[in-house]
Amino acid sequence: MNTDPKLNVVPFVSVDHMMKLVLKVGIDRFLTELAATIEEDFRRWPVFDKTPRVASHSEEGVIELMPTSDGTLYGFKYVNGHPKNTRDGRQTVTAFGVLSDVGNGYPMLLTEMTILTALRTAATSAVAAKYLARPNSRTMAIIGNGAQSEFQARAFKSLLGIDRLRLFDIDASATRKCAQNLAGLGFTIEECRSVEEAVEGADIITTVTADKQYATILSDNHVGPGAHINAVGGDCPGKTELSKDILLRSDIFVEYPPQTRIEGEIQQLPAEHPVIELWQVMTGETEGRKSADQITLFDSVGFAIEDFSALRYVREKLAEHGMFVELDLLADPDEPRDLYGMLLRCEKKLNAA
Ligand code: NAD
Repeated sequence: MNTDPKLNVVPFVSVDHMMKLVLKVGIDRFLTELAATIEEDFRRWPVFDKTPRVASHSEEGVIELMPTSDGTLYGFKYVNGHPKNTRDGRQTVTAFGVLSDVGNGYPMLLTEMTILTALRTAATSAVAAKYLARPNSRTMAIIGNGAQSEFQARAFKSLLGIDRLRLFDIDASATRKCAQNLAGLGFTIEECRSVEEAVEGADIITTVTADKQYATILSDNHVGPGAHINAVGGDCPGKTELSKDILLRSDIFVEYPPQTRIEGEIQQLPAEHPVIELWQVMTGETEGRKSADQITLFDSVGFAIEDFSALRYVREKLAEHGMFVELDLLADPDEPRDLYGMLLRCEKKLNAA
């Protein structure tokens, strides 16, 4: 295997290779190790270059670029969000990403990130809940049982021991799919017919629906004292899931405030409304949950550092497991300035053939 960027080939991880890599490592171990990598990077938050993602909005969705660097490595993800895609047999969210060497600017990894995004989003949610949910939490409601939902369930089981699920989706077939996919893994699963039913007795409420509008998936009366809310689906301007009253009763934890103010649930609140940065809870600079009655809210939108961690983790795993092909992505003339000469030599070979 060759992952040395000096040798001008770039490891490429296809969807097929990513699935095999995840299965070879094991889904639980992958989620746990990825969560640890994310936590490691959140703990060194100040070293990263940070910017809200660059978003190109349209009526149907959004296409975004998410860059960051720690000064040694640079990563970015291309990701879309098109809630109506599922009607045409496409994913709501698809992604790919690149990791590069800051020293010479050469890419060191090109990978699919659709599966990786679901894993990193779930791992980030579970890491947040580790600090914010009540320690004895066992039961989670999942509202929205689409592509992300099983990954959320698996991460919460691996990292927090959540083994009771209460599922709800406006499309009952999505709930059935989710329940079937999670069968035999040690979960007790209730398929619910309403949000009210799903949140009953839930220690943690995950909202992971897709709709490009200000939606109220969760109303104020759905949330009792002590709940932890993992709000994943509201991640775009004009796209939210929670009633504003819930936000006013909660302590709100976010990834990167300049991005979350634009995209998260807190776009419903004035810009000066206090929020707590998750990385500061991880470093111990700020407290997470302070009491059993407190309502904590992780207003997740997905931040570039989580993708950077995922890229970094996958690259490490390739050394052990392979699961990539080498891409001829970088021009490599014998004399670096003779790029045109390389083209001429190729022409000569073509003509001789
Ligand atoms: P998906 O389209 O596969 O699934 C969404 C599900 O939500 C569907 O089954 C749909 O029927 C259901 N739904 C829609 N409105 C609902 C409602 N009012 N009540 C209950 N269920 C409802 O989408 P996905 O890939 O699972 O993504 C879900 C959301 O998570 C998207 O909005 C996506 O942008 C977001 N997301 C966020 C992050 C993050 O880091 N925060 C990462 C990935 C995806």
